[in-house]
Amino acid sequence: MKVTNNYGLPEALVRALSRDEYTKGSSDYSVTGLLTPPKVALLRERYQDEMEMDVSEKMYTFLGTALHNALEKTLMPENCTYEERLFTTVDGTTISGAIDIQEKTPQGTVVWDYKVTSVWSVMREKTEWIEQLNMYKWFVETVKKEKVCGLKICAFLRDWSNNGRGEGYPDSSIVVVDIPMWTSTQAETFIRERLNAHKMGQMAHDFGDELPACTDQERWMSETTFAVKREGRKTAIRVLTDADEAKEMAVKENGYVEVRLGEPRRCAGDYCGVSKWCNQYQGEKHEPV
Ligand code: SF4
Repeated sequence: MKVTNNYGLPEALVRALSRDEYTKGSSDYSVTGLLTPPKVALLRERYQDEMEMDVSEKMYTFLGTALHNALEKTLMPENCTYEERLFTTVDGTTISGAIDIQEKTPQGTVVWDYKVTSVWSVMREKTEWIEQLNMYKWFVETVKKEKVCGLKICAFLRDWSNNGRGEGYPDSSIVVVDIPMWTSTQAETFIRERLNAHKMGQMAHDFGDELPACTDQERWMSETTFAVKREGRKTAIRVLTDADEAKEMAVKENGYVEVRLGEPRRCAGDYCGVSKWCNQYQGEKHEPV
């Protein structure tokens, strides 16, 4: 990956921000790797040398790493294990998961994960967090044979404001989010599905076949909405998610319906880093649906 410095940041900072501390240990796949869409992982591997990122875009990753480094240097309470990577083998493939904190309590182990994130992330249910923490739960139960009694995210909200309002707006800049727990069987089924998806992707890659497409969920597809509008009025009267409801309202309001198609935000914002080499996204851009 080529790292550019388009905003003339000081060299010392550029070096600090450019360090990539991600590792999957000696496993074939890590939890993070399994959660990455196979197409994204394989395109990143294929275009590794051509990928480009400005150092300024690494701020959030850097804040996350800095937080973990600071915590690493802190003396942990005796009932807590910090940053332990657990390994196991599924169908001959080694997988691993690095858990931020395992806190032993009389009821069992609580698995904690630290995240530097946005207010928006904690105001809605985040599927990726549920999947990630339940995979960690499965590792603790399967590898260490310990009962897990809670899954928690400690979220550092980088854009929190004292003046923030609205239903569900967090009360403070650091909040704890409880994550719903799956059964061990559910988690194992999910892990096997992810593993199979990656193995199939790898096979397609090795044989020069079409890579498996990213799903709508993996592409962070936003919902298609229907704006009820009226000639001469700049803003929509209402924006609805149901087409029939919107049509009905448009008749009543003597207006019309504007369809706002959902957008694959991960692709459009190039959050996967490989959108320019992705035939799925590039094809759609040239042939809009
Ligand atoms: S551009 Fe979209 S569809 Fe293509 S790899 Fe990235 S996330 Fe997947």
